[in-house]
Amino acid sequence: MVIIKDFLKNNSGLLDSLMRLIWKNAVIMVSVLMVILYRLQVINFVNREESAVIIFDVGQGDAILIQSDDTFGLVDGGPDGRIIYKLENYLHPWERDLRLVVLTHPHKDHMEGLFDVLERFEVQTVWVNAVEYPSPEWEYFLSADELIQVEHLTATYIGRCKVVVLNPIKRKFADETGSIDGGGLVGGGEKDLIIKSFDGNINNDSIVLGGKCLESKTAYGEFDFLLMGDAEVEIEEALIHEFPSLHTSVLKAGHHCSDTSNSYKFLSRVGPGIAVCSIGADNKFGHPSPEAIENFENLGIGYFVTSVSGDVAVEL
Ligand SMILES: [Zn+2]
Repeated sequence: MVIIKDFLKNNSGLLDSLMRLIWKNAVIMVSVLMVILYRLQVINFVNREESAVIIFDVGQGDAILIQSDDTFGLVDGGPDGRIIYKLENYLHPWERDLRLVVLTHPHKDHMEGLFDVLERFEVQTVWVNAVEYPSPEWEYFLSADELIQVEHLTATYIGRCKVVVLNPIKRKFADETGSIDGGGLVGGGEKDLIIKSFDGNINNDSIVLGGKCLESKTAYGEFDFLLMGDAEVEIEEALIHEFPSLHTSVLKAGHHCSDTSNSYKFLSRVGPGIAVCSIGADNKFGHPSPEAIENFENLGIGYFVTSVSGDVAVEL
């Protein structure tokens, strides 16, 4: 008979090693299990039967996934490579195709992560508004093959969702207000496609997208989601001028909920049920601005801030 106590005493070194081994393996196994459960939970979090728009928490920047019928579109890539982790958490490992990628404008907090996305995913088409902007990264981005210069009302489908370019606004309006200097094509050679900025503020050259996934919404200017990029109040004015009945259920609020966007007039006209501010915690810009939050509250618009809520997924 082996007296276990003696055995334990006599083999305390062995036992320690054994316990350490068991503990180490247990930690590894639990960690692996947690990762699997986390991924399953995240993947299953958004119902694949429904169309959805998912505003990722990527810190101070924008990255939004549109999902419909197992087809995906990505609007902006955030400030760094963390977008890859976000996509890999939401997509199944075999899902590597992005039907559409949109770069709203060439600021780093929207563009930087897209370099990794273009490298690691199969991207069919990239929509850009190829404005003049002195940046080596932007020049490099413009050398990609899949780029398409959008125009006002350029449209396509992501699954059941029709996405429509609302900004750049058509030249007609710009001419009427005299708020645009030039426009059209500039330069020569490879720069033929570079377009002059709307008003010199690159934020206002943001591609603004309206998305319509539900068949019930047929009215002109009525959208399920509106993604404002960093468009500011000048574009808000232009949009409600162009689309008098502009309306959306979900608003990816403009310019990280800065006070240069999200005017009371625009929000009251567009009437979102939910607004989302895509921002990093303790950012140096003071986003979200108290003015934007006050406007949401005064208008009874429910709002989320990604630095607090994390990713915000809205099924449509
Ligand atoms: Zn931005």
